[in-house]
Parts: sequence; C-alpha cells; structure tokens
Amino acid sequence: MGITLEQHTAGVAFIDGDYHPIGEARIPLLDWGFLRSDANQDTVSVWQRLFFRLEDHLNRFENNIAKLKMNCPYTRDEIRAIANECVWRAGFENAYFQMIMTRGVPAPGTRDPRSCDNRFYAFCIPYVWIATPEQQDKGLHLIVSSICRIPPESVDPTLKHYHWLDFEMGLLEAFDRGGDTVVLVDRNGHITEGPGFNLFFVKDGKVSTPGSGVLNGMTRRTVLELCEEVGVRCGPDSISATQLANGDEVFLSSTAGGVIPITTVDNKVVGDGIPGPVTRQIRTLYWQKRESGWHGTPVRAPSE
Ligand code: PLP
Repeated sequence: MGITLEQHTAGVAFIDGDYHPIGEARIPLLDWGFLRSDANQDTVSVWQRLFFRLEDHLNRFENNIAKLKMNCPYTRDEIRAIANECVWRAGFENAYFQMIMTRGVPAPGTRDPRSCDNRFYAFCIPYVWIATPEQQDKGLHLIVSSICRIPPESVDPTLKHYHWLDFEMGLLEAFDRGGDTVVLVDRNGHITEGPGFNLFFVKDGKVSTPGSGVLNGMTRRTVLELCEEVGVRCGPDSISATQLANGDEVFLSSTAGGVIPITTVDNKVVGDGIPGPVTRQIRTLYWQKRESGWHGTPVRAPSE
C-alpha cells in the first residue's frame, strides 16, 4: 500500500551466486525456463520482517523440483541463507521472496532436457497486493471464465509453474465483463483456481474449497487450519459455477493478500453483497496471527 514507482522497481536478485539490484538482473535468453516455461517457483511473503511458513515453502519447492527431475545447485540451508540475505539487503518491511528453478540452457545443438544445467534464481521485491485496499474491504467482483484451466493430466497444478496463458486470457476476459479477477473451471465445469489464488465458498456455515486440480496454496492450507481452530466446518469439495454464485460467502486465499472477500460472481451478488461473517472472521484472524509472529521466521543480518 502506498508504494512508490521507485520502490516497485527496487529489490534484490540473486543470480549466478551473486546479489544484484533487481533492475540489473539478467537471465540467459536461451534458458528453457523462459523459452519453454520449464520452471518452478515458490513465493514466500515477508510481513513486518518475518517470513511466513518459510520451511513449508522450502518443502513445497524441494518436492516440486524433484517432480520436475531438476537438480538444485544449492542445499536447503544455502537457499534459506539466500532468502534471508535477499530480504535483508532489500530492506523492505513487507516483501515477497521468490525462488525459481529453471531447466537452464541446453548443450549447443541438442534438444535434450537432460543436457541442461538447471539454474537457481531468486529475488526480493516489495509486497504486491492482489487487490487494492478498497477492494479488499468491499470485496472483489469475480468472473467465471469461459476458458478451462490447463488439465491436471497435462500440467500438474500442484507444481508452482508459469503456465499462465489461460489465467492471463481469463483475466482479460474478466476485465471486459466488468470483473476484477477471474476463476477458471475444469472440463466438467467445476471451479479450479485463479491467477495467484485459491477459492473458498461458504454455504450454511460450511467452508469448501476445490479438493483437486489446484495448487495446494500455502494460504489455502492456512485457512483450513484457521477454520479448524475456530470450529468452522471446512474441507475439500467439488464446486460448480452455479453453486459458487449461490454461496452465502465467497473468498480467495493468496500469499499476495491473505484472505480477500468476493461479493459478486458473474455480476450476481453473493449473499448480502458485503463481506460475510466467516470471511471477516478468518481474514481478521489471519492478519492478527501473522502480526503476532505465527509461523514467522525473522529476517536477520547475514552474519548473525
Ligand atoms: N493457485 C495458483 C495458480 C497460484 O499461482 C497461487 C499463488 O501464486 C495460489 C493458488 C495461491 O497459493 P499461495 O497461497 O501459496 O500463495
């Protein structure tokens, strides 16, 4: 909130074993991460100088790069130290830390992915909200796209990948239809996820979220834990677009904003048209707990 353009462009990148101002960070043009979206990333939020669920993010990152048959040139301890140093050097109070593995550049003249030296990149930039503060308070207008999410049989959605053309085109469709953001469906018309978020729906006091075909979002997991903590029934389910629009409440979860209410679906008002009680309770609790240091790892001077 209130971040200047100058701050937006600021940040720190870690490339080829060294730290660089983000504006000077360069990756090789022939890296298949860029040319083929052959990459995986994980994004950790830092709030008030505390990483959120850092070890859980490292677990997800490690599992995903193993699924992609990539070899990371750094150990887990080294990645943790890089994360700390990127954020420490960048100096932001609230930030994103993103770590990325790409397939890398193949040996000259071959198309064999096994010939690539897998590459690790990382960067820290100021925290970026998925919605403006006003939108977060009032609720977002969600559009259910006519575009299907890439099927999970083709690209595993539990990887945190960069296959986002379906989301990007869906987002443009949503803007044309008067929405703020978009959710894609699967081939059976069930709700999946949106560009950078998981979706939740509340009906008769029960909270549901799609159980498959989606990223196991860190914030989704956090919301499930918070629901359990406050005794709200919550679990995975398959949700049709019609069910979603007829929900009592709808909200999204994301590292880029926590818990954010949705007050219309396809221009139809959800519930009373204002953020509902369950959404408000979970959203408040999420930020209260984060500010109290829950799941937090402090950013330290590298020598400490
Ligand atoms: N789904 C997709 C496709 C995402 O890219 C993201 C985050 O970027 C999420 C869900 C939310 O995951 P998390 O809560 O870990 O940010």
